[in-house]
Amino acid sequence: MFRTDRTEQKRSSGSAPSSSNGAMPPETLLRETHQKWVQALEEQKRLQAKLEHLERDFHTIFDSVPAMIWYRDRQGTILRANRCAAESVGLSVEELVGKNYYELFPDGAQKALEKDMQVVLSGRPLYKQLRKYVTADNRVRWVLADRIPYWDENGQVAGVIVFAQDITEQKAAEDELHQANRQIERANRQLRAAAERARILAEEAAAANRAKSEFLAHMSHELRTPMNAILGFADILQEEALTEEQRQYVQTIQRSASNLLTLINEILDFSKIEAGKLHIEMMPCSCTEVVREVAELMEHTARSKGLEFRVDCAPDLPGVMYTDPMRLRQCLLNLIGNAVKFTEKGFIAVRVYPETAAGQKRIRFDVQDTGIGIEPARQSLIFESFTQADSSICRKYGGTGLGLAITRRLMGLLGGHVELASQPGKGSTFSLILPCFVEPVQSTSAADPSAPAAVPQEDDRHIGCIGRILLLDSDPPNPVHASLLLRRAGLDVCVVQSLREALEEHKQKPFNLVLIALQKVQEARKAAARLRNADEHLPIVIITGDSSSKTAEQFKIAGCNAVLVEPVSRGQLYETLRSFLSIQAALSVSEEPAASETGGTEDLYEALPVLTEQIRECYARSDYETLAEYAGRLVELGQRFRRSGLADKAGRLQKALAGGTVQPDELQRQLDELNDLCLQIMLGR
Ligand code: ADP
Repeated sequence: MFRTDRTEQKRSSGSAPSSSNGAMPPETLLRETHQKWVQALEEQKRLQAKLEHLERDFHTIFDSVPAMIWYRDRQGTILRANRCAAESVGLSVEELVGKNYYELFPDGAQKALEKDMQVVLSGRPLYKQLRKYVTADNRVRWVLADRIPYWDENGQVAGVIVFAQDITEQKAAEDELHQANRQIERANRQLRAAAERARILAEEAAAANRAKSEFLAHMSHELRTPMNAILGFADILQEEALTEEQRQYVQTIQRSASNLLTLINEILDFSKIEAGKLHIEMMPCSCTEVVREVAELMEHTARSKGLEFRVDCAPDLPGVMYTDPMRLRQCLLNLIGNAVKFTEKGFIAVRVYPETAAGQKRIRFDVQDTGIGIEPARQSLIFESFTQADSSICRKYGGTGLGLAITRRLMGLLGGHVELASQPGKGSTFSLILPCFVEPVQSTSAADPSAPAAVPQEDDRHIGCIGRILLLDSDPPNPVHASLLLRRAGLDVCVVQSLREALEEHKQKPFNLVLIALQKVQEARKAAARLRNADEHLPIVIITGDSSSKTAEQFKIAGCNAVLVEPVSRGQLYETLRSFLSIQAALSVSEEPAASETGGTEDLYEALPVLTEQIRECYARSDYETLAEYAGRLVELGQRFRRSGLADKAGRLQKALAGGTVQPDELQRQLDELNDLCLQIMLGR
């Protein structure tokens, strides 16, 4: 109808141009209005479709969100809920709408109401509220809820929208973690307490052990005096006019007393070593002479048993070496005595010769016999105290099983070790291996049986100040001992062998003191002068063999602060260092991080000589299991002190031993390499 009107209107108006009087002809106006109206209708339809699409999208998202969403009004009536929410109570979405939320969850309803009201009244959201609820099938669930205000079209808060995430599993995992942490803490506390108890027990045991050893030492000493009297008077009695029967009695007294005295002496030595009270006196001596003296004593006994007795000293042995000749004699006597005791026919051969291992010169004393030999499984045990190869030995040959234990410990105190090669029924070769000290070495006592001879006693190890020392010394084995001595005193030492290296090292990181121990006076003086030129404040200490006052004067002119004349005692050396380092340390302690590192690496320098020694001993007695353990300790040391070379090499050795397939040559090679590396580290390289 409307349309007809318009058409007619258009027709009657003809086709006169609309611009004639500026007004649009009615039919044009009508047509345009109609077009706009159609367009508006289409737009409305499009918007309607879009709205429906959006609503569908919203519902899809609303229902797929993995969290519960609740719309509820001020009274708690559920206006809308998503599928996740409906599933949580075991109802459909449709069933939920219209129900009262607080009635649905009576457990905790009061709290929920309070929080809802807080949001409604403040118009502000509430986030991350932890809430526990019980499901229809009686399961406890935990949710983390966010509440935001639900605004109606009038801008009023009509209720709340709640987003709740089920975190039951996450919470259970967290609880488990807390529980586990609590258990770990408890276990740690127990562990700490156990470690403390173990430490106290170990201290008590060590104290008890020391007390026992001291008691034994005193007792043995007390026993020795009357034993000597018995032997002395038996000797006097022997001279008297006795009947044959009486003479037999006296001889029995003499034999028994002499056996008893040997036993007492062994116990005395052993307990002295254990109690750390055996003093080692390092002095110049000739190893050839020591061997000849012992051989003279034993030769007669060997020959009287019908045994051949040979002694062979290599011509290239040093004329003088530094060791404790009395203790060396005691070790040789014990080995040769055993060789004679356990050999019925054949020979006893004593050989002495120099050798080099891992860059270290040493002297080997072999005592070979053609006696009963020792089973491989017993070879490591016989070095333990009071242990013999088997029970028949005591019956047949007598003895206490202390001799080898003492020998092994004495060798440790002299800086050496014992090796054994033996075949049952064919014979044995026991070897004493001593470092070839051709320079004065500090005397020591038995505090640490496995430590090298130059190790000072525990009590006076630390000199009470800190500092970096540069040691210039080119004559091995001197640098090894000097650097060990200094490190054990808690100092950080760098060893160099030439003046050029010394200058370079000092330039890179200045030292607190330089110790020059070059043998040639000229060289030492030149080195002192060059170092003084390079650093006018650097304390320079010289150790020289030349005691003339003229030389001392020349050193002073060259810029030296102190001159020590050999043999230098440890106390003298420490005293001199202390006089310079105390000032130096005080000046540099705050800016010197190396000080704390020194304390740490000191452990490394303490442990390395002992471990290498133990490894050598294990190898000598073919105890590969313990050897692997010690290699493991070297790996730990390497890792702890970031010595990757050490950790790698020791790790390779440990692995090879664990595989059990390592060839003797290969094992020897690996051990030599490892030993060499340890030596380099001890030298500070
Ligand atoms: P002792 O000789 O007093 O028993 P040792 O400690 O000197 O104590 O020796 C321990 C054991 O080692 C001996 O009992 C013996 O079984 C074995 N042994 C030592 N030396 C030899 C040797 N040369 N030949 C065979 N067995 C030996």
